[in-house]
Amino acid sequence: VMTCDFLALARPGVQKLSPYVPGKPVEELAREFGLRPQDIVKLASNENPLGPSPAVKKAIEAALPELTRYPDGNGFALKQALATKLGVPTASITLGNGSNDILELVTRAFVGPEHEVIFSDHAFAVYPIVTQAVGATAVSVPAKDWGHDLPAMAAAISDATRMIFIANPNNPTGTWIERVELEAFLAQVPETVMVVLDEAYTEYVETDDVPNGMDYLAQYPNLLVSRTFSKAYGLAALRVGYGVSSPQIADALNRVRQPFNVNSLALAAALAALQDEAYLIESRRINRLGMQQLEDGCALMGLSWIPSRGNFLAIDLGREAAPVFQALLREGVIVRPVANYGMPNHLRVTVGLPEENQRFLDVLKQVLISG
Ligand code: PMP
Repeated sequence: VMTCDFLALARPGVQKLSPYVPGKPVEELAREFGLRPQDIVKLASNENPLGPSPAVKKAIEAALPELTRYPDGNGFALKQALATKLGVPTASITLGNGSNDILELVTRAFVGPEHEVIFSDHAFAVYPIVTQAVGATAVSVPAKDWGHDLPAMAAAISDATRMIFIANPNNPTGTWIERVELEAFLAQVPETVMVVLDEAYTEYVETDDVPNGMDYLAQYPNLLVSRTFSKAYGLAALRVGYGVSSPQIADALNRVRQPFNVNSLALAAALAALQDEAYLIESRRINRLGMQQLEDGCALMGLSWIPSRGNFLAIDLGREAAPVFQALLREGVIVRPVANYGMPNHLRVTVGLPEENQRFLDVLKQVLISG
């Protein structure tokens, strides 16, 4: 018999958290509604719709005979390839079990209960989770047109501030920060305040007004840029991301990370993905076309959306989105409700293949008419 209320023993910040809600897995929906997995379209987790690149599958095959061995805990080959590609020293790179791991490592290494961590309203859900897990105080700053209000975020800096999260582009809004805005902001942040610039979707950005975080590392040793292989590189299942920062920050992250935080198949796959330029180009092309298709479809239905530079679109239904989400599920279409992000009227849909986007648009239209 359990007599102890263990949740009451958890740190106060943890007690106040709600668990991260992932996109509903296809298998789960199939079970719940008696649907066939092949009849289900999942556009709920900003995943790459292309399927894995053949080069990645080959690299994984080649790594299989070594499964009994621990992976290279320093990720030598992948770090070398990243360093060459990004023009940074290998000592600036930290590999993570997804970029979420990097977000957690930097928080654990630098932030404690005496600190405040700043991020924007409607920003990625992992920021409050990692902040509250270390007992720090989360400071969420009101957004401007759904995006980060950097002047307001700079104004929120106090003596207790130790870290600021910025997502560019942001999930779930798709909003982005332009170069001049970021530059003005970085110049205002005290050196003892870490800026974590989360560029999970940067490979999808095709305009030159959005800054490349790498350009600011030399000038700002308090900057950490995080990136991932989960999105445009198509490796979400394998969990591999990386941080780029000053070597000192990387050193601190390296001290708190688990010795083998990135597995060997992920290391091999990421290395192959990095060299597969054609896959990346195709990812961008499919995304560009699909984004246009979704916007055109929404416009035809009289719906508005938040302009996005990611691989997803937050659509404003002009009414509570939860029932529409449920109705879409019953038709085998999984998207993402974002009420937990303070956006009860929006649905976030990931850009899929043309036929997946069409299925979503058709079912949405049908649901909106009948509801
Ligand atoms: N940052 C943002 C803004 C994201 O949307 C995501 C994925 N949902 C991540 C980081 C983390 O992705 P991963 O851990 O797969 O790299």
